[in-house]
Amino acid sequence: MVDSKQVKDILFGLGADLCGIAGIDRFNDAPEGYHPTDVLPTCKSVISFGCRFPIGTLSCNSPVPYTKVRNSITPKMDAMALDFCIEMEKHQIVCVPIPTNESQWDEKTKRWRSIISLKHAAQAAGLGTIGRHSLLITPEFGSMVWLGAVLCEQELECDELKDNICNNCNACVNICPVNALEHLELEQQVCWDYAFGDDKAIQSWVIGCHKCRDICPYNLGTENSFRKE
Ligand code: SF4
Ligand code: SF4
Repeated sequence: MVDSKQVKDILFGLGADLCGIAGIDRFNDAPEGYHPTDVLPTCKSVISFGCRFPIGTLSCNSPVPYTKVRNSITPKMDAMALDFCIEMEKHQIVCVPIPTNESQWDEKTKRWRSIISLKHAAQAAGLGTIGRHSLLITPEFGSMVWLGAVLCEQELECDELKDNICNNCNACVNICPVNALEHLELEQQVCWDYAFGDDKAIQSWVIGCHKCRDICPYNLGTENSFRKE
């Protein structure tokens, strides 16, 4: 038997900056096919964890640092989730890592999705709340945190939910050059077509837009706790 504090200590020991736990009853609104029990039928708890993403990458003139960090943080977090599951198996507890990237195409919504929503899992586990820009906002790091999750067969003590953080200022909606945030659901393909691609000048694939992150007061703005320190 492992309690929720031990679970978090293992993940913090592996390098997580945030960790929270949600009971399976918090996923009643999950879309068909994306409920944790659609992946692991015996799932009782979802463990969400986050790793901070260097905020300075938002201020660079070059897109390379942001792109490089984004491309290296996901395999790092996949490895952390894998190590965590193996550690839990040593305590006779079955856990399953959820890939950190959108790993499958969903024909119904015409977009790439994770096999369960990592940001909804993080919200259910009390890490933060989803903002108008469709990203998780945390009190500690704004949206400059990447998310991972693990499904667990053991019931664990849950974390309290956070009150809504986004202030609905709409700055993220208004700054998007391609209106990808016009509707409540991000238009993923519109965003990706504009933000991702080859930069001919430097002959590299880059992420060339993160304006909705930059403008949010919880990232580069006045509400970021790191900036306040
Ligand atoms: S990353 Fe750029 S294109 Fe995509 S939603 Fe944000 S502002 Fe719009
Ligand atoms: S920019 Fe404003 S509306 Fe958009 S997520 Fe941040 S606080 Fe919410």
